[in-house]
Amino acid sequence: MTNVFAFAESRLGNIRRASLEAVTAARQVADQTGGQVHAMLAGGPGIGAHAAKLAAHGADVVIVLEDVGFRHYNPEALVATIAARLGGGSTGYRAAFFSASAQGHDLVARTAARMGLPYASDVTEFTIGADSATAKHPGYTNKVLQNFTLKGALAIISLRAGAVLPKESPKTGTVEPISSAVDPASVRVKVTATEASGGAKLDLGEAPVIVSGGRGLKEAANFTLVEDLAAAFGNAAVGATRAVTDDGWRPHSDQIGQTGRLVSPDLYVACGISGAIQHLAGMRTAKTIVAINKDREAPIFKVADYGIVGDVLQVLPVLTEAVRKAKNG
Ligand SMILES: Cc1cc2nc3c(=O)[nH]c(=O)nc-3n(C[C@H](O)[C@H](O)[C@H](O)COP(=O)(O)OP(=O)(O)OC[C@H]3O[C@@H](n4cnc5c(N)ncnc54)[C@H](O)[C@@H]3O)c2cc1C
Repeated sequence: MTNVFAFAESRLGNIRRASLEAVTAARQVADQTGGQVHAMLAGGPGIGAHAAKLAAHGADVVIVLEDVGFRHYNPEALVATIAARLGGGSTGYRAAFFSASAQGHDLVARTAARMGLPYASDVTEFTIGADSATAKHPGYTNKVLQNFTLKGALAIISLRAGAVLPKESPKTGTVEPISSAVDPASVRVKVTATEASGGAKLDLGEAPVIVSGGRGLKEAANFTLVEDLAAAFGNAAVGATRAVTDDGWRPHSDQIGQTGRLVSPDLYVACGISGAIQHLAGMRTAKTIVAINKDREAPIFKVADYGIVGDVLQVLPVLTEAVRKAKNG
């Protein structure tokens, strides 16, 4: 029971940053148990091309399930295949890591139920020992930290985005092609198409930098200042508060917080955002938080690593120019 499994989540043929986090977590554990990391890629024709990236992040073996029936998320067939892999044969897995994404939540719950095993979901810290496994989950919108003990030979865990930073640790990455445990065309519910709602924008869950705007921007048109700063960073997505999405300044898919997206970027720039508890619930685990607010008593400054007290409409163009200059050397 020394090997560790990681599921590498993909979307329409592209692997997600979260999958590298899952492989990195598996590598950490395998380095303690002395076992191997087996990372699984599942998707349509061509998905196997990402095997090298998983190997670079510590996968000794990359299990490739490449079939046109997996071009879209196919939970029934995928769970049957993962459960067969985790449960059968001599692979001897001690832990299995997934992403705590919308897809990951679905996959992990189904896999654990199918195998009759416990799992810990949306985990930020974990320990996997020979006889015991523990996991921490920030619950009730981060107001409490729940500690779990997982009993059983195999610990199934989904990781919150950003809980583990992807780290390179090159391994052989032997490719092992496998077939689906059930005919992927025989499933009862099929995803026939996936349409992106926000064009080609960087997904909030994937972006290392998020520039987010609130009501302090005064009107929808001023969000161009937020977009300009995001564009200057180059690897940034734009987020918003609920006040702003409710007013129709931004789409609801941009909302961050208790009733929006939960994000953990490396850098979160809060522009004209008060820092209501419901907003903090979605972003307070960001590695570095920068806040711009004209009110020095605004609650956002309590969680910010760097604060700028000033008019966001004046500060943003200056900041954007500074980022552009820094980027251009
Ligand atoms: C059940 C429930 C769920 C909720 N879920 C969410 C959620 O998921 N996400 C979320 O964001 N909210 C959520 N909310 C709403 C939340 O309580 C706040 O109302 C909201 O986050 C406030 O948004 P805001 O910071 O943009 O606006 P405000 O609270 O109005 O703050 C605007 C800030 O801008 C500053 N400001 C004004 N002018 C300037 C300027 N020129 N320059 C610089 N600063 C300026 C002000 O000082 C102020 O701090 C929820 C509420 C409830 C009840």
